[in-house]
Amino acid sequence: MMFETWWLLALPLVFGLGWMAARFDVRQLISEQGALPRSYFKGLNFLLNEQPDQAIDAFVEVARLDPETTELHFALGALFRRRGETERAIRVHQNLATRPDLPEPEREHALFELGQDYLRAGLLDRAEESLRRLMSGPYAASAKRVLLELYEVEKEWQKAIEAARELQTLEQKSYSLQIAQFCCELAQDALQRKRPEDAVKWLNQAVAENPANVRAPILLGDVAAAAGDTRAALGHWLGIERQDASFLPLVADRVVKAYASLDEQGVALEWLRGLLKGKLAPEVLDTAYKAELEVNGPEAAARLMREQLRRQPTLLALTKYFEAQAAVAAATQAIGETPAGQAEVADDCDEAGRETTAIRDLLQLRTRNLARYTCRECGFRARLFYWQCPGCNRWETYAPRRSETLG
Ligand SMILES: [Zn+2]
Repeated sequence: MMFETWWLLALPLVFGLGWMAARFDVRQLISEQGALPRSYFKGLNFLLNEQPDQAIDAFVEVARLDPETTELHFALGALFRRRGETERAIRVHQNLATRPDLPEPEREHALFELGQDYLRAGLLDRAEESLRRLMSGPYAASAKRVLLELYEVEKEWQKAIEAARELQTLEQKSYSLQIAQFCCELAQDALQRKRPEDAVKWLNQAVAENPANVRAPILLGDVAAAAGDTRAALGHWLGIERQDASFLPLVADRVVKAYASLDEQGVALEWLRGLLKGKLAPEVLDTAYKAELEVNGPEAAARLMREQLRRQPTLLALTKYFEAQAAVAAATQAIGETPAGQAEVADDCDEAGRETTAIRDLLQLRTRNLARYTCRECGFRARLFYWQCPGCNRWETYAPRRSETLG
């Protein structure tokens, strides 16, 4: 009984305390608002009236009078940059970065933001200058990441390698996949400048950095082929199978060309026929078709595609089959005059040839955009294979398999 009475008395007391606490909060809020300088409301007014330049001036005044409002500036700067108004974002962040009274961490924050503004505005030199000032401190890793992005845009691969190595230490995370790709980029530059020794040096470094890198052996093969050592080139290209066989279709055309230069087309055809029996078949279909057509003629090519259709019926194989049939029809017509008396048979052949050509054209039209490489990070679809996605700029995000989707 005593216990229940105690609760009856305690309840109004609890409500009373709650009411007092609420009042205290409201009073505190009012007193805080009262402390805000007039410029703050002036700035807010300008912003609401879509006069951002005057708003910035007013907010700069607020920051001068009350250093506690720097967060407001950062919010404004971020807002401007997101809206693509980089000039305004730069002004806001510049004001912050040059203020001597600002504590060091906040000035570093401003420099970091400024670097990103410059990058967005395409002022790469200035971006680099701002970000390079943040070599240590809480923004060092973030600044380095943006710098890395910047070096990739500028194609400054050596600087990119340095930045990635530093990031490796700062973040305790492996960047070997990217570093190996940067080495490959440098090798490709060297190849273009006709400096194969430099190219080989970079490619060996790429392999040492990331033994799983497939691009390096492909390029090592290119270097050997350019030097006239076709056997060595074939060794590099076919050696990809030991790393990741799914990349073999990327070198199929190179392999066919190399065997042709050695006058060993038969070996290339055997290799391709072997691949057609496995899961890489859709990727090498085109190369196999062209090689067979060139070496053994349209009838053999049509036979190969018919076999393939029985094994793996795909729209692409069907298209190739009709391409071969149309080539057979064209070759028959080109043989010339049909002997007299067989004119009717010849007319039928013409008719069948025209039908085949029509079906081929229709299939070609339908399958033209069918096979595309797709980035697994951002979904960007591309006709060509890329080591760095043009959509999201990430490395090695494309599988060497094209997806067949209609649309
Ligand atoms: Zn992507």
